[in-house]
Amino acid sequence: MQIEAKNINKYFGDFHAIKDVNFSITKGHLVGLIGPSGGGKTSILRMLSGLERPSTGDIYFDGKVATNLPVQERGIGFVFQSYALFKHMTVFDNVAYGLRVLKKPKEVIHDRVTYLLRLMGLAGSERKYPHQLSGGQRQRVAFARALAPEPGLLLLDEPFAAIDAKIRKELRVWLRNLIDEFKVTTIFVTHDQDEAIEVADEIIIVQQGKVEQQGTPWEIYTKPATPFVASFIGESNRVESYVPLKGFPYLKEIQQEGRWKKDVHVLVRPEAIEVRPSNTTHLPSAGETGTVTHVHFRGDSWYLEIEAGTQKLFAYQSLKENAFQVGDEVNLLIHQISVFTQTDNKLLDN
Ligand code: ATP
Repeated sequence: MQIEAKNINKYFGDFHAIKDVNFSITKGHLVGLIGPSGGGKTSILRMLSGLERPSTGDIYFDGKVATNLPVQERGIGFVFQSYALFKHMTVFDNVAYGLRVLKKPKEVIHDRVTYLLRLMGLAGSERKYPHQLSGGQRQRVAFARALAPEPGLLLLDEPFAAIDAKIRKELRVWLRNLIDEFKVTTIFVTHDQDEAIEVADEIIIVQQGKVEQQGTPWEIYTKPATPFVASFIGESNRVESYVPLKGFPYLKEIQQEGRWKKDVHVLVRPEAIEVRPSNTTHLPSAGETGTVTHVHFRGDSWYLEIEAGTQKLFAYQSLKENAFQVGDEVNLLIHQISVFTQTDNKLLDN
């Protein structure tokens, strides 16, 4: 199903929870809906599901207005954080539930449930009850149950939140494969930014009831539309002085016009800073110099703090051996920056 939200507002009493939200989701895409607690993710999900109505604005499924459709007529599958399985029903009956509601023939139900349980690695568990399964297995039953009636839209609200970190990582790959197999439009609410970056075709970031940005994980990471996005996804240096950024002609203009700091501020990803020993001769002259003030090992990279003029920067360097020590003079080459206006945080340049 293709999904569209147009000018959605939601008030709870006087409280304006969702503020003029617009987005469009391509059929078959897996979309990560992320943002800080209280930002409006669950409210958006509830309006898509029909559990809640927008105060104003409309929702479209495949181009048709669906704003006021009852829940059961929307063709939506749900998987929630807590394993909302029917406790008194076997695994088979749980998965068969939606098909029975649709009054599908017995044989069709049997074949579909058997197929889904095999796909989920749960063949042989048909007669078990939810309490006889592990958390990961129960969540797979919940996915099978949601997918059984062939929904046009799958809504996932923190489906892996109750599962331990290692299995969660495996489930990311599993989920991606599952959505590729079923080609069902899926919206996935998660608190885990890395999870969203790894599995989603697109990410929608909501904060204080507004969509901050919608884009592919790559776009969101490399071209954050607002300083909030830049700090919510990944990490950033906030550069207050012009000194380490001489290589960017655009900034030179701003510097020459005296607008630096008053009008703009600049964010730099720690991994966008290349650190080289200062005796490296092949560097272009744009590289600025600095002094290493702190070093520690992070497991997959080295964390460096560097003083460049009045500016302190932190950088991640993927080195097999740590080439730098505190006190080393280094050359910095900054590969990418994001420039925002100071007053309204609009992205100027990237
Ligand atoms: P979390 O990540 O903590 O689940 P969220 O992004 O899903 O948060 P929502 O649950 O959608 O956020 O809540 C958005 C805002 O709307 C919050 O300030 C919340 O307190 C408020 N809110 C949500 N539902 C109601 C309601 N039924 N009545 C009043 N306020 C509500």
